[in-house]
Amino acid sequence: MRNALEIGEKIACGDVKAVDIVESTIKRIEQTNKDLNAFITITYEEALKQAEVIDREVKEGIIRSPLSGVPVAIKDNICTKGIRTTTASKILSEYYPPYDATVVRRVKEAGLVIVGKTNQDEFAMGSSSETSYFGVVHNPHNLDYCPGGSSGGSCACVSAGMVPVALASDCGGSIRQPSAFCGVYGLKPTYGLVSRYGLISFIPSTDQIGPVANNVEDLSALLTIIAGYDEKDANSIKVGRIDYLSSLGGDSEVKKVGLIREWLESSTPEVRGAVEGVCEKIEGVGIEVVDVELPYTKYAVATYRLLADAEASSNMARYDGMNFTRRVEGDDLKGVYMASRGEGLGDEVKRRVLIGTFILSHGYKERYYWKAMGARVHIRRDFEEVLSEVDLLVGPTTPTPPFKIGDIIDDPLAMYLADVFVVPANLAGIPAMNIPAGFTDDGLPLGVQLIGSPLDEARLLSVAKMLEGGR
Ligand code: GLN
Repeated sequence: MRNALEIGEKIACGDVKAVDIVESTIKRIEQTNKDLNAFITITYEEALKQAEVIDREVKEGIIRSPLSGVPVAIKDNICTKGIRTTTASKILSEYYPPYDATVVRRVKEAGLVIVGKTNQDEFAMGSSSETSYFGVVHNPHNLDYCPGGSSGGSCACVSAGMVPVALASDCGGSIRQPSAFCGVYGLKPTYGLVSRYGLISFIPSTDQIGPVANNVEDLSALLTIIAGYDEKDANSIKVGRIDYLSSLGGDSEVKKVGLIREWLESSTPEVRGAVEGVCEKIEGVGIEVVDVELPYTKYAVATYRLLADAEASSNMARYDGMNFTRRVEGDDLKGVYMASRGEGLGDEVKRRVLIGTFILSHGYKERYYWKAMGARVHIRRDFEEVLSEVDLLVGPTTPTPPFKIGDIIDDPLAMYLADVFVVPANLAGIPAMNIPAGFTDDGLPLGVQLIGSPLDEARLLSVAKMLEGGR
């Protein structure tokens, strides 16, 4: 169950029934989930109904897309009509959205079958998938290790072969870092390429939904389905639908790739080795690799933390026990707010609300928030400058291989630093993806990151495709 396009093809030509695929998928999810805890909700009934429709259509010769009938998992911060959407928080543990996110509507229209909602860090705040109200997610390569976060569930379930493809979200590395830890492909699109409508907001100025898959073709097929202008998202870029799958075979016209040497120097030897191995492969396909410098990216984590917490604190204000959230009664209105938020939100979320409120308060917003906004411009310019000289960038996705469950959860600073190489692309709004790049001696996955100019997804995917195989 690792290849989505292959499954789609078999369903389209009537070799297998979508209903049978759903049944075997759910069976496997139920077995494997006991160990991994990658799913919060399994949607057996709904999936079966959807699959029946697809099977009827195939009989009539209707094929909605190359992924029609293929099972897909959706991160639990993406709204699904009538299906519980918790963002792994107690406060939304009883929330059933009255509408579908645009990406959900698009995957349904393309015939994909939603089999469940995946576990994550609460409100996507974390890098280890340990802050979920629904328990810790485990890495399929070694259950004692973290799958990364916040999209640990989506990446773990694809890596374990529970589903062939999944949707996740990335406002500060949450697709790429867990993809690296789980050994799968994961892409964060250009800001504005994929609609955020229906994504439970954490950092609206950087949030993007993106695909996770076991190979580049599946990743491209899913991106093709979800990308493109949506009038419901005010930040949506006015680009038409692009077929990333058929552009894979064409000439990528990539001649020069920039290696971010400074990032290599702050990585462990295993990670460095993985990046160097990928660089050799890049040279092997006739592309030149040159060293580049991104001097402002050393401020990326500090900048990101300020902007992230500021935006998060303002976003979290709506969870007050009044409307769609779980309510805990109190003596008066303030009492309800305090009890609902006090009980409903976890420690990491509270920490960010407190810091964010401080950052935005009178006298401090100039000192911290505005300064971070200025630093963000410098980081974006760093990328613009180097990407005017080279076609793409290559570097590590994470500074270390996967860490153990429990190892850094009590050290927020260490956790934040795990995002050091992923947050720059979010701050710059540019596309970036993880490609799996071998394993440590202990069998833990290693990942390498490719980064491009705005809307350069097709070239990223083409180069990833050239490097695929033989890892
Ligand atoms: N690790 C990042 C954080 O904790 C993840 C953010 C994200 O991409 N959702 O802020």
